[in-house]
Amino acid sequence: MQTIITLEELRAARALLPGPAGFVPTMGYLHAGHISLVERARAECASVVASIFVNPAQFGPNEDLAKYPRDLPRDLSLLEAAGVDLVWTPTPEVMYPPGFQTWVTVEGLTAPLEGAQRPGHFRGVTTVVAKLFNAVAPQKAYFGQKDAQQAAVIRRMTRDLDFPIEIVVCPTVREADGLAMSSRNTYLNPQERKAATVLFRALSAAKAAHEQGEREADVLRRIMAETITAEPLARLQYVSCADYDTLEELETVTGKSLLSMAVFVGKTRLIDNFVIG
Ligand code: AMP
Repeated sequence: MQTIITLEELRAARALLPGPAGFVPTMGYLHAGHISLVERARAECASVVASIFVNPAQFGPNEDLAKYPRDLPRDLSLLEAAGVDLVWTPTPEVMYPPGFQTWVTVEGLTAPLEGAQRPGHFRGVTTVVAKLFNAVAPQKAYFGQKDAQQAAVIRRMTRDLDFPIEIVVCPTVREADGLAMSSRNTYLNPQERKAATVLFRALSAAKAAHEQGEREADVLRRIMAETITAEPLARLQYVSCADYDTLEELETVTGKSLLSMAVFVGKTRLIDNFVIG
């Protein structure tokens, strides 16, 4: 496995890889969720490229950029064990050299949910992913359903900007008690870690109600909100029951829909979602 920092070396090494090339972009501090993306890419592609870049442009001024967890040596050994051919670990200066002033923005899809709570977040995501796509030029790129809106926004950007890349969205990998794996789970103390299962419990309760015939989106949102509110260490930021494609809030669940939420557990902000219908 080759580890590369500069764009020039990345392009040179990439040119030597056999196609199709699969690409897994990450912010590092890897867990089994990330590795599931690498394994899927390994199974489907002749070569696999991963990136590790904690992208300053997608963090708000009061978010956790400075304390975002990092462990490059461990990440590299996990990627090597999973069969990655090339890892790109650009620095912020490589990605955003002096004078940088070009941004990629997806409009409507970024307005609700995470976009409403984190102004500028998706502009940072789409800009860096467009740059990564241009540099790595993969045939396929792998994203997690854990970040459902991000996957939808990337799919939209890929179509709108004509990137010749297939976007593959992989299922959310969970801990045994249902908590979605996340690099941010490391912020949780033992009590908070237990309380953090509340997201999975709330989503499960709403899904069960839907399976029993409940179609009123307000009722599903209320079931989720009440489950979260009953957990003393949790503070609800939003719950949503939205159309899977447009991410617009629903009145009635008729087809494929996204149940999603953002919840503070202590000071840690967690997101999770289920697809229903
Ligand atoms: P991140 O390092 O958090 O930017 O995540 C990199 C990629 O891994 C994104 O496409 C995420 O959606 C995906 N990912 C993160 N957590 C999980 C998980 N628990 N299961 C599946 N994919 C995940």
